[in-house]
Amino acid sequence: MGSECHGSVHIFLFPFMAHGHMIPVSDTAKLFASYGVKITIVTTPLNAIRFAQTTQSSKFNIQIKAIEFPSEEAGLPKGCENVDTLPSPDLVNPFFKATRLLQPQFEELLKEFKPTCIVADMVFPWATEAAAKFGIPRLVFSGTSFFAMCALDCVKVYEPYSKVSSETEPFVIPYLPGEIELTRAQLPDFIKNNVLNDVTQLLKEAREAELKSFGIIMNSFYELEPVYADFYRNELGRKAWHIGPVSLCNRETEEKVQRGKEATIDEHECLKWLDSKKPDSVVYLCFGSVADFNSTQLKEIAMALEAAGQDFIWVVRKGKDEVDEWLPEGFEERMEGKGLMIRGWAPQVLILDHPSVGGFVTHCGWNSTLEGISAGLPMVTWPLAAEQFYNEKLVAQVLKIGVGVGTQKWVRLFGDSVKKEAIVKAVSQIMVGEEAEERRSRARELGKQARRAVEEGGSSYQDFNKLIQELKSQQLG
Ligand code: UDP
Repeated sequence: MGSECHGSVHIFLFPFMAHGHMIPVSDTAKLFASYGVKITIVTTPLNAIRFAQTTQSSKFNIQIKAIEFPSEEAGLPKGCENVDTLPSPDLVNPFFKATRLLQPQFEELLKEFKPTCIVADMVFPWATEAAAKFGIPRLVFSGTSFFAMCALDCVKVYEPYSKVSSETEPFVIPYLPGEIELTRAQLPDFIKNNVLNDVTQLLKEAREAELKSFGIIMNSFYELEPVYADFYRNELGRKAWHIGPVSLCNRETEEKVQRGKEATIDEHECLKWLDSKKPDSVVYLCFGSVADFNSTQLKEIAMALEAAGQDFIWVVRKGKDEVDEWLPEGFEERMEGKGLMIRGWAPQVLILDHPSVGGFVTHCGWNSTLEGISAGLPMVTWPLAAEQFYNEKLVAQVLKIGVGVGTQKWVRLFGDSVKKEAIVKAVSQIMVGEEAEERRSRARELGKQARRAVEEGGSSYQDFNKLIQELKSQQLG
């Protein structure tokens, strides 16, 4: 925790309304507040309730200001304030449009409180202009790795996907260190088809706004991706501070449990189950807050877990009240004591940090990836969408702590179907044998480096302090 008090600095945090964005912002709020920085989270009423719950375990003072979400004005059902709870994917675009309507209310708050700076999500490009009206610097909060930011930029600028003849022919990402290969199939349509639609327009504006902003806060640490942190700053010319892994600010059980949604398993029950297992023996499978699988894929995973023979915790997003018609006959009885299924929301960081957990099957969302790295775990990478295919490359190819399950196609939600055999093979490659041990020891070392980075004198600690000093000198200027 910080010894110096930075009480003169007041930061507005303005996260996008999705759990994968709100969780790291909540951790960031705690991190800043632990150093005596005054923090106000700006969000909508329903999300404010969740933030109040997740930050209450922190002993620091974090203010939350709610602004009304213009659901009806944007053609959304009342109460739709979080992209994860939209009743239909068709409402995603109206949801993004609705966030633009927040600008006047946001500006009212800026006028009233005059914070030292605002940290707004990348998907709010208008926040740079709003802050500028009041002479306030705007920082961008990046929810991903330096590696992905660099790769995205090189793909966008040099369009290597337009020089291959098929969806599966690999191309090397130009100028990006490390000879990183990708295929067109692993890119979203809105990038590779060069169309101008709402999404590409937003991405374009987000990039322009980032370039005009005061800089970008990265939830990463230098030792994890030094080549890409340097490339981002020196070659791409961006101003960035790495302050992560922010999830490491959660030290107590209660803090680790209170992240995101309410967990659907009692943490004591979960810990008791894990305590009964040998060190490094349990595989944890979870695919984040958005991804969902159809029954065929769920069945394939169940059969793979049974065949792999490892103890496991498997998070299935389907609720208890939904019929598990996809479960193989007698699966739960046979897996009694060997596997734990969590239907709904798991206390992920609590689980990953337990010594019995020895591997993580992840969709490569950046928060999950970094949480796995912080826990020193080897991973099976199962990317689906967003920038997850880039994160997979970082984990498997650059850091050499992961094995790909073999997904080849960018999809929005459901994933291409991965067969039982591929899952069994990848799980055994991170759990059993000499190569698995090598991966594990590399992962452990990275976990130690992650912890060192956030301790006093560590690289993230130093960059965090540099950022605060710069903000203070802005105040004086
Ligand atoms: N998470 C959790 N329990 C769950 C599912 C997800 O705590 O059952 C948390 C996870 O720890 C991470 C976040 O939700 O912090 C998911 O973010 P990520 O970037 O990994 O993926 P996204 O949900 O954005 O696809």
